Amino acid sequence: MKKILQDLSYEEIEALILSLGERKFRAGQVYLGLMQGKKISELPVSSLLRERLIEQFEDEPVKIYKTYTAEDGTKKYLFLLADGNLIEGVLMKYKYGNTQCVSTQVGCRMGCKFCASTLGGLIRNLTAGEILSQILAVNRAAGGTLKDRAVTNVVLMGSGEPFDNYENVVTFLRNLTSEHGINISARNVSLSTCGLVPQMKAFSGEGIPLNLTVSLHAVTDAERKRTMPVANRYRICEILDACAEYFKKTGRRYIFEYSLIAGENADEAHAEALVKLLKGKPCHVNLIRLNEVKERKLNSVSEKEAYRFLGVLEKNGISATLRRSMGSDIGGACGQLRANHLKESADHAQHCKGDTDEH
Ligand code: SAH
Repeated sequence: MKKILQDLSYEEIEALILSLGERKFRAGQVYLGLMQGKKISELPVSSLLRERLIEQFEDEPVKIYKTYTAEDGTKKYLFLLADGNLIEGVLMKYKYGNTQCVSTQVGCRMGCKFCASTLGGLIRNLTAGEILSQILAVNRAAGGTLKDRAVTNVVLMGSGEPFDNYENVVTFLRNLTSEHGINISARNVSLSTCGLVPQMKAFSGEGIPLNLTVSLHAVTDAERKRTMPVANRYRICEILDACAEYFKKTGRRYIFEYSLIAGENADEAHAEALVKLLKGKPCHVNLIRLNEVKERKLNSVSEKEAYRFLGVLEKNGISATLRRSMGSDIGGACGQLRANHLKESADHAQHCKGDTDEH
């Protein structure tokens, strides 16, 4: 694979363009074009400069390969990377704007028992530019511009663990929020982590005040270990300390994701234990009914049970919401789209192989 031009900041592109013997204002044209989601071959500069860039850099590092539209307007995208890997993303429509969910890795090595992204393990990290390009491509495809963006909010909740790809994710966040670029405010960005404590602490010092979201999914370490292998490395109390530090440094309240899994974490006693754990903390809880993944044996709770759980939190003064599951008719849970697509391709290959064996 060649290098990724979208990895670079505005200042780095300027240095590159000058090193190619071009005038400084060309850097602005190149950067603006890239932020509009253009391929290098579409940039409004001389064909000589385009050719020289394409010698070193991927023309289109992230290509929209398939688009699926759900009944509720949610769009899902399968993206093709330059090395043939596939990743997925979602664009959800809300009253206040459109939220895009992006991937940070191809696959994931965290091994959460309910998640489809980890089924094949980690293939590789995405570069900063590959993460950014998912947004640039969707903003363009959805008819957005830099002034009037079709993507207004970003969540790092696609496949991958953002803090397992720390450097690239931080570079991506700096470029995403840069005033030279698509300029999405950190306040409109949510980063979800399974709770890698050292990276959470390091991130507190980066000066990026986004919505830090932690996948909790359990109220005790013992129960958390049953569904999240990362719980063998970090305890819930350490996670809470790291969250407190983030609040202290940024003034941003933090968010816990809690997916309700029948027979695991969703009883009234769990709700009460969660209240005890979080009482008085500047946090919010996002409940979601487990999105059942067919390769996994875990089941969701009923809507009624989910509301009962929410009721316990609310009654006890914990800020919480039960999130609607969006676009479930087109493969809701994380990693499902890619997993389904890979499986279809594998079935297809198997089928074709079967054919040739017969002849
Ligand atoms: N690696 C990050 C981001 C991953 S996905 C993290 O762990 O936070 C975003 C959220 O979806 C996480 O809270 C994750 O635990 C949750 N999730 C994954 N699979 C799910 C499923 N099948 N049903 C409900 N939530 C799921």
